[in-house]
Amino acid sequence: MPECYARSCKLSARPGQLTISCAVPVSAAWPLQMVETDGGIRAVDWVWCDAASGRAGAMVPLPADTQSVRGRGIEVIIAANWKMNPPLADAAALAVAYAADSFDGVTRILFPPAPYLVQMGVRLDGTDMLVGGQDCHHNASGAHTGDVAAGMLADCGARVVLLGHSERRADHGEDDALVATKAAAALSAGLDVMICVGETLDQREAGSAEAVVTAQLEGSVPAGIDTSRLMLAYEPVWAIGTGKVAGVEEIAAMHAAIQQWLAKRDLASVPILYGGSVKPGNADAIFGVPDVGGALVGGASLKAEDFNGICSAGARAAAARS
Ligand code: PEP
Repeated sequence: MPECYARSCKLSARPGQLTISCAVPVSAAWPLQMVETDGGIRAVDWVWCDAASGRAGAMVPLPADTQSVRGRGIEVIIAANWKMNPPLADAAALAVAYAADSFDGVTRILFPPAPYLVQMGVRLDGTDMLVGGQDCHHNASGAHTGDVAAGMLADCGARVVLLGHSERRADHGEDDALVATKAAAALSAGLDVMICVGETLDQREAGSAEAVVTAQLEGSVPAGIDTSRLMLAYEPVWAIGTGKVAGVEEIAAMHAAIQQWLAKRDLASVPILYGGSVKPGNADAIFGVPDVGGALVGGASLKAEDFNGICSAGARAAAARS
């Protein structure tokens, strides 16, 4: 364990976390360290190191900050939802590839599997890509085996949590009321929330897509939520992971309907992302639709080249809008 660790550290603070990077050569991760920071001696719970580059980092959870993800004044939000993928070795390589690029006018968010949050957060430190949780429990603590509290996500570097994804609604029977209580828990823990809504194919074919989505918004978005803490993702269920993309007219109509709903609740500035088989080849067209504030990307986020292609389209859209 190098003694110089605490002395040769570079500190970089950002809301919710303090990262300490060291240039000392290291070959293993240490389970617990005491390091000296501007704020005095602190316990570091997680240390990350990369033997190849000799870089090491540690994360010290700080009290949740109040600055929202969107406080950065950025135009297009592009989020990678890894779901229950990939293995850790591939995840690390993917994060390194993500970290190598940045995109003007784009805020990137990574939703990795919860066990990877700290490692991905440290690997992406110093980039414009934030990390977030894919879900959280609605209680702050307690006997809930297998669940993760919002505060735990925040302690691991998350700045935002994805809620109400259709896979959670389908696999775990989550309804709008539960999503709203999870959102309230996340907000209390200092996290921003990205709430997903979207209709099934049957509902679209029955002509009830807008009514379904509006009802989901009514039930899932907590009353009185601070505008700056909320992002929405419109994800037609039939377009997720299927390769079928909603047509630009369908996206435009639904985003306009959501925008109207938001306006009635004084939430007009909330960004509405589109999700559902977004790829580099369709991203420009999707970002060209009025009211599309970005994309929630599943499958294509598992290939750095594809995700970067979507982010490049986001940067073009941000430039065109500014
Ligand atoms: C998603 O999981 O939110 C998603 C949009 O997946 P995909 O891009 O694979 O359709």
